[in-house]
Amino acid sequence: MLTALYIHVPFCEKICVYCDFHKEIATLTKKTKYIDALIKELIKNKDTLKNIKTVYIGGGTPSNLPLDLLEKLLEAINENINITNEVEFSIETNPNDITIQKALLFSKYNINRVSVGVQTFNNDHLKFLGRTHNKSDVINAVNNLHKAGINNINIDMIFSLVKQTEAELREDIKEVLKLDITHLSYYSLILEEKTTLYHLYNQNKVSMNSEDIEALMYNIVIDSLVENGFNHYEISNFCKDGFESNHNTIYWKNLDYLGIGSGSHSLINNKRFYNESNVTKYINDTMNDIDEIKVEYDTEPLREELIMGLRLLKGININDINTKYNIDLLEDYKELNEFIKKDLLVLDNGFIHFTRKGLMLGNLVFGIF
Ligand code: SF4
Repeated sequence: MLTALYIHVPFCEKICVYCDFHKEIATLTKKTKYIDALIKELIKNKDTLKNIKTVYIGGGTPSNLPLDLLEKLLEAINENINITNEVEFSIETNPNDITIQKALLFSKYNINRVSVGVQTFNNDHLKFLGRTHNKSDVINAVNNLHKAGINNINIDMIFSLVKQTEAELREDIKEVLKLDITHLSYYSLILEEKTTLYHLYNQNKVSMNSEDIEALMYNIVIDSLVENGFNHYEISNFCKDGFESNHNTIYWKNLDYLGIGSGSHSLINNKRFYNESNVTKYINDTMNDIDEIKVEYDTEPLREELIMGLRLLKGININDINTKYNIDLLEDYKELNEFIKKDLLVLDNGFIHFTRKGLMLGNLVFGIF
């Protein structure tokens, strides 16, 4: 039985310069048809969702759906899945979407964890990134969520922004720490192909920070958050005690999940699937039952499990992985012993995990798998 469900809503108000997610700007008619198709796919799979423990509505920007469409989707989820108190039910949002009405709607339909895409509080950086909110929108959003009784709040942040100074980073962290939140995802700015940022970089119109500056900033992020009561539990994720993301932990532990909606991925019985990513085709195929919209693709389960497992600061249980894959991890991947000698990895009570130095050089380690 599956325990995790991901629901994709691929619509955004505006496209951010760095974003390579599956998203688009669409008309209300297209959004309406999409929600109908999404609900149809949900109902088709409802029998596999009886034991669900986490539901995550991501995007795109699900919070940007008009109130009535959002309500239609949330109503259908509640009608078809038993959302008990134990279920972690999350939604991704942009700060300027979280009016008190939307916050109350979330809580009416049992959403108990909200992720807010903030990225930075600096107006110049927000403008460059193509974000549509400002600092007061973030404060209002968090207040509205608390007023609606939703206290499990994640903030997404980005460091090592183009031309970001150390002082600006510290200012961002200071603002984050003023918020009453339980979880923080803090990623460095990544140059992804097919983004505006990538084109600007290739035309020499922007430069990216060096690895040294990125490492310096990453260290500042870790130190500041840990000193202020956050547990650093995954390479880019921090939480207050007991507030790890249950949904994302399913991905990091390489456990099964079902994804519905265009372009979503699923992992079921060691097989990976993706859904049709063209939104119009997804809608047509789903509504007309034309095709099986899930397409299987090749995976490397051991490699994926090693990479995802090492993202967790607790690391990988060596016995478990040896038994599951019938391997001898430290023998089959001899380079791991070199990384241990160089203080990038450490053996700790049957687990292997990154040291602080290793966190800065994660890609070097991941490269051997
Ligand atoms: S709002 Fe999120 S999903 Fe939409 S373009 Fe920006 S980063 Fe991408």
